[in-house]
Amino acid sequence: MSEILPRWEAAAYPADPGALASQARSTRLLMGLLIAGMFVVIAASGMVILNTLRSEMVLARQKTTFVTNVSHELKTPLTSIRMFSEMLKEGRQPDVEKQRTYLGLMVSETERLTRLINNVLDFSKMEKGKRTYSKSRLDVGVLAEAVVENERVRLEHDGFSVAFTNAAGPSVVEADEEALRQALLNLLSNAEKYSAASKSVEVEVWKTDGFIRIDVRDRGIGIPPSEAGKIFKEFYRVDQSLTARVPGSGLGLSIARRIARDHGGDIEYRPRDAGGSVFRFILPEAKPR
Ligand code: ADP
Repeated sequence: MSEILPRWEAAAYPADPGALASQARSTRLLMGLLIAGMFVVIAASGMVILNTLRSEMVLARQKTTFVTNVSHELKTPLTSIRMFSEMLKEGRQPDVEKQRTYLGLMVSETERLTRLINNVLDFSKMEKGKRTYSKSRLDVGVLAEAVVENERVRLEHDGFSVAFTNAAGPSVVEADEEALRQALLNLLSNAEKYSAASKSVEVEVWKTDGFIRIDVRDRGIGIPPSEAGKIFKEFYRVDQSLTARVPGSGLGLSIARRIARDHGGDIEYRPRDAGGSVFRFILPEAKPR
């Protein structure tokens, strides 16, 4: 200003000198928070993407093992049917009684094939929530006995001792007969598949507090306590060297439990004293009319 007003000076001072510094501090803090927030968002999205990728990979692996396992499982009964039918066709077995046994075994193997295929079909129906039941009043003790007797020929032929007891008397339930048959067959089939040196299957029907219980007991390899909570999950198979050699889809128990629950009951597992497993199929008794 010296040219216009010699010796004059102008000075400007901030009204509040602390305000600028505190504004700068809060801007710095805000920027810091924004950057940290961005990092958190980037890290979280990365984790989500990684997790999705990982579960997609697990699912893809499960699908391929599932296809391999199912194909393996279907092969076993097919091989038996082929062997027995060839023997009969070539007339290699003159004994009529034996011929009848072979035919019985072929029927039983065909039922096994049907059950395996039904497991896969029902699983996809249940997934889509499309499984329907046609329920009627039936005696589940009688049904269980028929299922066991149907399997007896094949089981005994394979060296199993088979026992059935009905301590319940009349055991009327409101249920879908085919679905119950399938659930029971899945349990029986496991008792057979996971057997060890002592081959035995015992089925007992009993009744308490308005519930019918069907115990399927075996003397097989049993289930380690750490695995017991997981065996009812879809596709889950206990990772043991023996299980790895036994073909299976990992669907049998999850379907059986779903059927039991859809009928107001459940399936429970408990280890058996002196080795083996007990699977308990529980159903509510139908109200008397
Ligand atoms: P899958 O038999 O086709 O593998 P499941 O759903 O029927 O499938 O059974 C799941 C797993 O539970 C089996 O792979 C097996 O490891 C175990 N398991 C089921 N039943 C028995 C049993 N009776 N004894 C021992 N292990 C069993």
